[in-house]
Amino acid sequence: MISIQNVSKQFGSATVVDEVSLEIETGDFCVIVGPSGSGKSTLLRMINRLEPISNGGIKVQGQDIMRIPSTELRRGMGYVIQGHGLFPHRTVGQNIATVPKLLGWSKNKIDARVKTLLDVFGLNPDVFQNKYPHQLSGGQQQRVGVARALAAEAKILLMDEPFGALDPLTRTKAQDDLLKIQQQLGITVMLVTHDMDEALRLGDKIAVMNNGRVLQYDSPQDILTHPADSFCSQFIGTVD
Ligand code: ATP
Ligand code: MG
Repeated sequence: MISIQNVSKQFGSATVVDEVSLEIETGDFCVIVGPSGSGKSTLLRMINRLEPISNGGIKVQGQDIMRIPSTELRRGMGYVIQGHGLFPHRTVGQNIATVPKLLGWSKNKIDARVKTLLDVFGLNPDVFQNKYPHQLSGGQQQRVGVARALAAEAKILLMDEPFGALDPLTRTKAQDDLLKIQQQLGITVMLVTHDMDEALRLGDKIAVMNNGRVLQYDSPQDILTHPADSFCSQFIGTVD
């Protein structure tokens, strides 16, 4: 369970995340949706301590994140940024092995993990392991990015606009794959997007943000049928 309690973030005099509280159950798929500049990425970055919290607190499995060393916290939390950020001069296998290597895993354990993940993500290890990122399609690179984020057996996956660069068909396929993998591995996901369709498709729960505030946090069904205010209903594209 991830528990975000009254969290705010100030940059100078601007409040970009404003008293946000969210509970994300273990194994749930939570989508944070909102327009550009609403504070989604900043909120996500505070969860893995890439950004210091100005006020409030965040707990993971009941533990205050400020009491967990950041390396340990991030080991349990995969993070996928837009554009997947693969290392261009490392092969697919080397990309996925990055964190396990840093953790000092044995070569056998790393090789086995790389093969398992490539299989899970539908990429034949014999074909893909030794390829370089530029030899892969955008959708394949995106899957390697997620595999890398999960390599150290993270139970939480934070994703910031992971499908932004994909064409609609590849995007739909990647969304389906991600849902399958999430269920197969039993991981908790927080995904940021400004695409309401994507939020409705993926989320067990959706948080609608605007101007740093969470206006509504509900199931897709409730968001669709009972938008909290005029902003939510406009963003969803329904009429009050
Ligand atoms: P997008 O959909 O465009 O990615 P977002 O919802 O992820 O937007 P954030 O990146 O969280 O938005 O930014 C929220 C606000 O905080 C924006 O107004 C942005 O300009 C501001 N901001 C973000 N990072 C910094 C920073 N390091 N210093 C000052 N202001 C910042
Ligand atoms: Mg962002």
